[in-house]
Amino acid sequence: MSKIEWNGKIITVQPRIRLNRSFDERTHSYLGYSLRVSGVTSDGLNEFWVGIGKGAQQKIIFQIGMSVEGKAQRVLDTRKETVDFYKVSGVVVNLAAADAKLKGPPWSGIAPELEVYRARGHRRLSKKTYDTNCIGCIWGCNMPVIITIDQWKPENKQFRYETFCYGPKSCRFYKSGPTRKVAGRNEMTWEEENWVDEDATAHRRPDE
Ligand code: SF4
Repeated sequence: MSKIEWNGKIITVQPRIRLNRSFDERTHSYLGYSLRVSGVTSDGLNEFWVGIGKGAQQKIIFQIGMSVEGKAQRVLDTRKETVDFYKVSGVVVNLAAADAKLKGPPWSGIAPELEVYRARGHRRLSKKTYDTNCIGCIWGCNMPVIITIDQWKPENKQFRYETFCYGPKSCRFYKSGPTRKVAGRNEMTWEEENWVDEDATAHRRPDE
């Protein structure tokens, strides 16, 4: 598949993480980072998301305010990605970012290593709050979710997107939104209640 050309200014850097659900079990695939770019692509987009790998982030350290250009491929299966483009090549940084802005929320400094996100754990985040206040925050994440309804019929999947917050539990913007339900065998449903988020982030104090 041919690649498009893109260039523009980075306006968000967030982790690129896929969530696999099977009833009450969940695993994460740490794919890299998602860059939201205000600019232009050779196929006519002016604001778009570019998915990069962990290695590219370690090498270039993409951050808000940078002007960059490169090539990339359109995502083939949009059920498994929240970015528009991936398989990035030929990246050139045309303008480095100004000093990282440390005051938040939303936080716009350098996004941490993926291991940091994994260690912090997340809480569900209202989609509306994500769109309104968190889309530019390094602690926000819009994940593609793949649900295996019946482990004996692994080809039977559901797909959707879920938003999460890895940030400080005291963040004034945080709103959880409704609990999430996961379909299972024999028309059973798992409801992911608040204790799951509390458990996942119990090791952090409110301001961490
Ligand atoms: S709620 Fe979370 S993602 Fe949103 S601004 Fe606060 S820390 Fe960032």
